[in-house]
Order: sequence, then C-alpha cells, then structure tokens
Amino acid sequence: MHDGLSCGGRWKFGVGELGGAARKLTRAIPPPDSLAAGPSLRNDCGVNVVRNIASVLLWPRRNPIRRVLVPTMGALHHGHGELIRIARETAGEGGEVAVSIFVNPLQFAPGGDYEKYPRPEKVDDEFCRNAGVDILFRPSAEEMYVPDFSVSVEENSLANTLEGKSRPGHFRGVCTVVAKLFHILAPDAAVFGEKDFQQLAIIRRMVRDLNFPVEIIGAPTVREPDGLACSSRNQYLSAVEREQAPVLQRALQAARQFGARGERSAEKILAPAREVIATAPLARIDYLEIMNAETLLPAGEAGPGSLIVVAAFFGKTRLIDNLRLS
Ligand code: AMP
Repeated sequence: MHDGLSCGGRWKFGVGELGGAARKLTRAIPPPDSLAAGPSLRNDCGVNVVRNIASVLLWPRRNPIRRVLVPTMGALHHGHGELIRIARETAGEGGEVAVSIFVNPLQFAPGGDYEKYPRPEKVDDEFCRNAGVDILFRPSAEEMYVPDFSVSVEENSLANTLEGKSRPGHFRGVCTVVAKLFHILAPDAAVFGEKDFQQLAIIRRMVRDLNFPVEIIGAPTVREPDGLACSSRNQYLSAVEREQAPVLQRALQAARQFGARGERSAEKILAPAREVIATAPLARIDYLEIMNAETLLPAGEAGPGSLIVVAAFFGKTRLIDNLRLS
C-alpha cells in the first residue's frame, strides 16, 4: 500500500468527475507537517503515531467546508424537502447540501417495483434547484455496480426483524449503497427520515461499527394533511386505496392513546390499532408490532422507549409507518 507519510506531498482523495461538482469533492488531507499540530506523537523515527480513532478524526482538514448529504431514490416530495431543509440548517452558512438520487437495484427484491419506480428527472431537478441544493448526484446503476461487483455491507442484528424479515436482502442493499455514497461524496453529516425508522437505526449502527466519520441526523416524518406519511410510493395508490391509506396513522394514534391510559401489555395496546385498520377493507397488514426503539426487538410490555410500527399492503403497494408510544 502506498505510504502517504513518506511521499512528502499533499494527500488527497477525490471521486473523479462529477460534473461541475468535482472540484468540491476533493478533500485534502493534511500533509505530514500539519499532523504534528494534531493530537499525535512523533516517535523516534519521526513518524506521527496516533493510537486512537478519535484523534485521527481531530486532524485539521485543509478544506473545511461542511457538506451534508441527503440520500434519496428521487420522486422527491415534502418529506425529502424537510430533510433538505435540515441539511441546509446543519451545513450552516458556507456549508453545502448534497442530494443523491439513485434508485438502488440492490435493495429491491427480484420482481419488486425497481423497474416501475418513478424517475421524474426534470421535476426532481427543479425541486432541488428550488430547495437550494448545491450538488445533485445522480449516478447510473452501471457506474455504481460494475458487472463483477462482489463486495457488500451487511448489518446482522437490527436488520433481522420487521422490514428485514419481510424484505430479505433489503438492508444489505441499503447499507452497501449508503457506504458507497459516503465514500464517494465524503459528507460530514447525512440526514435520514424517521419514517424509515429501522433504516435509520441500521445506518447509525453501520456508521458506528465501520467508523464512518459521518454524523447521522434523524428527521421527523412529514405527512399529508390527512395523516398519511409522504412517500414516493403513494403515487401507486388508486383513488380508493389513497382514501383508505391514512388508516395506518389513525391506527397508530389509537394505540398510543390506549397506551397513554396506563396499559402496558403490547398485545392489548395493539388491539385498538387492529380494529381501526379493519375499517379499511383494502388494507392487508404485513406486520403491526410494538418494538424496543433501541434494539428493534418485539416488546411484550410497552415502555418509554417503545415504538409502534406498521407495514400494510393496499393492493400491490406496501406502506410503512411508525409512532413513538410516548
Ligand atoms: P427514499 O427516497 O424513499 O429512499 O427516501 C429518502 C429519505 O427520505 C430516507 O431517509 C427516508 O426515510 C426519507 N423520507 C421518506 N419519506 C419521508 C417522510 N414522509 N418524512 C420524512 N422523511 C422521509
């Protein structure tokens, strides 16, 4: 491996061409001399030795523009807009907001909706322009996954329940693409929606376990006026399915209200939620559970950290939602 300390020049890594953004994407890592100013000790050979990861992260960057990334699959809606707003706030004055739009084949099941997933490029471009996005990264699947692509990232604990159980391989696809986006765009922070609560928890775990120097920020779920969580997949719903879909949020609210009266049993708290969903003849429950929000394991008894989660089909469209119990 090339030894950066002995080369004497500037260390750099970049991502090659990314339209006009390529210049911004080159992060300079300090040359050896400036490392001495950081939390390191020069040993007898004159080599800067740093013995812990936190110290490495404290090394000054030569180009300290704060970049905040919002990874998406496009078909942008108010939920994405809120993530971009939070990214802008987090980036601060002089910082930059990057949005990636990539319909990631790796996270779709064979026979899933990968082909028909909406890709309204022009509308998305305009959305990003109006939202003040600095970099829009829209790679091709061919570039992201070369034909003999063979390395992926897998989380093996939190991914075993809920979405992971219903959609085998989904989170391997998510972790792999997010890891790639982090390497390519080198963000300081990234914003993810709490609507995909399990995804957010898994990304946090991946960042912790693989030492990505990226702050992960969770953003609250944005809803339509009738309570339905905004989703790119809502546009698949027929008029009558769309009319019934807000039942999911109403069901979660009913469970929360029941829990607020002091009921602890998860089964009992879920009963009113089931009743509410039963009023929508087109809804077919995939799962409806109370989970521990940290471990994502089913909770027999509801507590302060409990989360009620639902996934349901309306026709072929699968929607998810969640709500904190307190
Ligand atoms: P997607 O384009 O569906 O892959 O979503 C991209 C990001 O937007 C993910 O972090 C989602 O959790 C987030 N997101 C999607 N819908 C919403 C919503 N209604 N409110 C907040 N965040 C959302």
